[in-house]
Amino acid sequence: MAAAKTTKERRLKGAASSPGIAIGLSFKHDIERPPIIQRSIPAARIDAELRRLDRAIASARRDLEKIRAAAGDTIGPQLAKIFEAELLILDDTEFLKLVAADIRKSGTCAEYIYNRHITRTIKNLAGAEESYLQEMASDIKTTAGRVLSHLVGPMMRKIKDNKRRIALADTFSPGEVVLMNRYRTPGFASMQGGPTSHALLVARALSVPAVVGVSGLCKHCADDCEMIIDGYAGEVIVNPSEQTREHYRSEQKKRQGLKTRQLRHLARLPEQTLDGHEIKICANVDFPSHTDKLLATAGVDVGLYRTEFFYLSESAFPSEADQAATYLKIAETFFPHKVTLRVFDLGSDKVSAEHAQQEESNPALGWRGIRFDLDSPAIFRTQIRAILRASKLKNLKLMLPMVTMAQEVVRSRRLIRSAMDELRTEQVPFDEQIEIGIMIEVPAAALMATALAHHVDFFSIGTNDLVQYTLAVDRGNKKVVKLYRELHPAVLKLIQMTIDAGTESRIPVSLCGELASELEAVPLLIGMGLTRLSVTTQSLPPVRKLVGKLNYEECRKLAARALKLNTTERVEALLYNWYADKVGG
Ligand code: PEP
Ligand code: MG
Repeated sequence: MAAAKTTKERRLKGAASSPGIAIGLSFKHDIERPPIIQRSIPAARIDAELRRLDRAIASARRDLEKIRAAAGDTIGPQLAKIFEAELLILDDTEFLKLVAADIRKSGTCAEYIYNRHITRTIKNLAGAEESYLQEMASDIKTTAGRVLSHLVGPMMRKIKDNKRRIALADTFSPGEVVLMNRYRTPGFASMQGGPTSHALLVARALSVPAVVGVSGLCKHCADDCEMIIDGYAGEVIVNPSEQTREHYRSEQKKRQGLKTRQLRHLARLPEQTLDGHEIKICANVDFPSHTDKLLATAGVDVGLYRTEFFYLSESAFPSEADQAATYLKIAETFFPHKVTLRVFDLGSDKVSAEHAQQEESNPALGWRGIRFDLDSPAIFRTQIRAILRASKLKNLKLMLPMVTMAQEVVRSRRLIRSAMDELRTEQVPFDEQIEIGIMIEVPAAALMATALAHHVDFFSIGTNDLVQYTLAVDRGNKKVVKLYRELHPAVLKLIQMTIDAGTESRIPVSLCGELASELEAVPLLIGMGLTRLSVTTQSLPPVRKLVGKLNYEECRKLAARALKLNTTERVEALLYNWYADKVGG
C-alpha cells in the first residue's frame, strides 16, 4: 500500500458507511507479517511440525474466543455469531487433514502448505459473484491470518498500537472492528466492502464511524495523513483544509452524544403537531444491539424490525428456540412499547446455496419475501412459531413482506392459525390477538390496498421497494441511481391510494421506507394522512422534533398542492422551498 503523501484536500466517495464523524491522523493497517518461506522439514521432524500447526490453530481459537466474548457484550449475541463462522473454518477437519497430508507428503513446513491451501480456497471463492461467498472468502482470509501469525510471528501493525488513529486498509474483519471499538480507534475506511459486509454491520452496531468500498483509498492516503471520515455522507476527506476541518469539528460537536442524549430527550417531546394532531414516530431496527435499550428508554415503538439479521450472522436457518429467545429478548427490552417484527424478507441473492436452488437473473423480481416464505413452509413455520412464542407479553406485531396479492395473506394466515393451534395443544402461551399486517411495497399491493385491507390489521408502506418497482429502477444499481426518485408523482399516488384504503377500512397505515427519514418529505407525508412514520435511529430525534414544529392544516394544504404536480422536480422544489420557508434551514 505505498502511497505518496499529498497536501491537497481530496474527497473520496465510499459505497456504504456507518454514521459518525472521525477526525485525525491515519495509520495503514497493513496485514504485513514476516514472509512465509518454503522450508524443508526432515522426515523425523514431520510429527513435531504437525503438532506446531495444531498449536497455532488452538492459539488462533483462543484469540477468537476472546474477541467473540468481547463482542458479545457490545454488539449482542446475534452479530457475535459472525465470529462463529471463523471458528468453523478453524475446525474444518477435512481441510486440516488435506493440509497435514500435504505437509507429510511434501516434507515442507506447515506455514507454507497451510497458506498455499488457504490461498487456493480464497481464490475460488473470491471470484464468485454472490456476496455471501465473497464474505466467506474474507472470513477465511482473516482466520488464516490468525493461524499464520502464530506460525511465523505476529502481524506488524496493530490496532492496539495505533489508538486514536483512523485505520485504513484494503479490508477489515469484524474482529478488527471490535478491537477498534475497544482501543478507541476513531473510525476506519477500507477499499473493499459493501452495505452488508460484516465489518460494516459490526461498525454500525458499535457506532464506529466508517466508510467502505472507497476506491483509490490506498493510492491517495499515506500514514500520518490528516483525514476525516464522514460516515453520514459516506466520504473520506484526505488533507482537509482548515475550513473543512472547522466545519467537521462543529458538526462532530453537534452530533456527539446524539444517540444517548437526544434519545433520552425524545421521551419528553410531545408526539403531536403544533395544532394537536397526533403523529407517532417509530424506529426501524436492523439487528439487536445496545441501541435497543436506548430506544426503549426513550419510549419508542419499533415500526420495522428486520429479522434478516439472523442471516447475516448464520449460515443455516436459525432454530425455533434460538429465534424465540432472541425475539423474546427484543419484546422484553421494548416492553410495554410495540415492536413490529417483519418475517424474513430473503431473496435468492441472500440465501445460502443450499436453499437458493437456482441462480436468478432478476432476483428483485424473483423468489423473495413472502414468496420465499410460503414456498419454504418449514422455515416460515419455524419463524412464525418463534414469534408467537415470544409474543406472550402482547407487544409484538407480525408483518409480511413483498405481498402482491390477497391469496398470499390468506395462505400466511392459515399457516399462522395452524401454528397457533399447535402452541395451544402444547400449552405454550402466546398473544391470541397478535396483529398481522403487511408491507405495501409493490405497486400491485398499493393498487389493491382496499381488497387487501380486509385480510390484515395494518399496512406499512415500504417506499424503498415501492420506488424501485414503480419506476423500474434497481435500488442497488449505481448506474440508475439518478432515476431512483422517491418523490416521483407516481410513487406519491400509490402512497396516497394506500393511505386512503387504510383510512376507509379503518386500519392503521404507517410508512417505514427511507422516505420517512427525509425531513423535507415529512410534512408532505403527514399532510397525506399518515399518522405513523418509522424512521432510522439517526433520524428519530430530528424527525420527532420537526413534527412538533409543524401545523397539520398547513401540511394538508402542502400535500394537496404536491399531489397535483406532474414532475419529480416540481414536487422536490415545492417541498424544499416549503421546508426552508416554514421550518428554516
Ligand atoms: C422498504 O422496502 O421500504 C422497506 C422498508 O423494506 P427493506 O428496505 O427492508 O426492503
Ligand atoms: Mg422492502
